[in-house]
Amino acid sequence: MCKHILNAQVSIRAPCCKKFFDCPQCHAETQDHNLRKTLEMVFMCKKCKKAFRKDMSEYEEADEYCPHCDNQYVIEAKEPKAMVGVEGEDARVDNRMLKDDRMKEDPARSLFASKDVSDKVDQSLYELLRARQAAGGGAQ
Ligand SMILES: [Zn+2]
Ligand SMILES: [Zn+2]
Ligand SMILES: [Zn+2]
Repeated sequence: MCKHILNAQVSIRAPCCKKFFDCPQCHAETQDHNLRKTLEMVFMCKKCKKAFRKDMSEYEEADEYCPHCDNQYVIEAKEPKAMVGVEGEDARVDNRMLKDDRMKEDPARSLFASKDVSDKVDQSLYELLRARQAAGGGAQ
């Protein structure tokens, strides 16, 4: 369980540093290198604590479940800001709407959606730093 995805069902092994992380943001915050992408993902189920491999190039609906304990690990990510709504009176309605929206998405894609976001954040930060360096160099 990490602060970014509160209901994470699996840890994902980063292919670059061979460590398990709950989400790509955790990797970005604790490591000083970019997360390497791979098609052969290694997951560890948080329920039964067993590891398993998935080839993401041939990901099927049945692959949403842990092969050891059938725990469904591809679920809508509960992010901290969404938790505020759960405490409100219309929580059930909001939840259902959120879920319906997610259902239309490709499950493999929504699992890794946060990875794409963190990649974009990393890149824009990098570009900002580079732009500042360029500006500083020009002023001298
Ligand atoms: Zn790494
Ligand atoms: Zn995290
Ligand atoms: Zn399991």
